[in-house]
Amino acid sequence: MRWQDMERSQNVEDRRGQSFGRIAGGGGRPGILLLLVVLVGGYFGVDLTGLLDSGGTPQVVAPPAVQQRQQTADPSDTLAEFTKVVLKQTENYWSSFFSANGEHYQAPRLVLYTGQTNTACGYGQSAMGPFYCPADRKLYVDLSFYHDMQTQLGGGGDFALGYVVAHEVGHHVQNLLGIAQEVHQMQAKVSKRDANRLSVMMELQADCFAGVWGSSVRRQGRLEQGDLQEALQTATAIGDDRLQRRAQGRVVPDSFTHGTSEERYFWFKRGFDTGNPGMCNTFSEKR
Ligand SMILES: [Zn+2]
Repeated sequence: MRWQDMERSQNVEDRRGQSFGRIAGGGGRPGILLLLVVLVGGYFGVDLTGLLDSGGTPQVVAPPAVQQRQQTADPSDTLAEFTKVVLKQTENYWSSFFSANGEHYQAPRLVLYTGQTNTACGYGQSAMGPFYCPADRKLYVDLSFYHDMQTQLGGGGDFALGYVVAHEVGHHVQNLLGIAQEVHQMQAKVSKRDANRLSVMMELQADCFAGVWGSSVRRQGRLEQGDLQEALQTATAIGDDRLQRRAQGRVVPDSFTHGTSEERYFWFKRGFDTGNPGMCNTFSEKR
């Protein structure tokens, strides 16, 4: 992706090098876009407790305090710069999407950290990978995950990193739209198996939203040869079936919470091909 000259997001807290960061609370929730929300209800009554990158009900908006510190040159700075560019792209895209639907997009904040950090969802650790905390509306990213993704999972490339960031932003969008809350409520009422399946649908929708980001990058003429393949390869590498086989040598589909490689590939591509979040209805579509 050609991104070096693109605008960076300012919604960033750089906590790299700190032992832990401070906690901020967060605020109101905008109206619901029916377009995407109706989807959730129809499936089967369910709860979203097992969702790693989801938490409680959103409350307060974080105060606009930004900690910006100068870093010495290091490879992760390029990654940090790129991450800020991706975040800005998502802000542009979702702002126009929300305003086209008569709503205002409240952008999430990105927290860069190393090792571990405090969040309104509990203690964040780099081993968890990038995650979104709905309670403080922040994305938490330890850039070291990118190295792991390249070396251990066989994913990589800038567009693959962008996919991961855009996926977490997708969870923020689900939070703003009330989808996450609705799914949580449903999950409380059903079996573990069905609750897991609802988690999968949430995750696949976030993948599809990430694909929509990819589509917006393409429309700006910023894609390079191989970018889409990088993202698709990563989507495949982080499927539950693939990860379980790596970790335990076997696959237990009922325990999936993110979807299979094939599903993740499919939904990222769906978002990318259509560029339309309305086509990301993972809840009603049976495959
Ligand atoms: Zn996720």
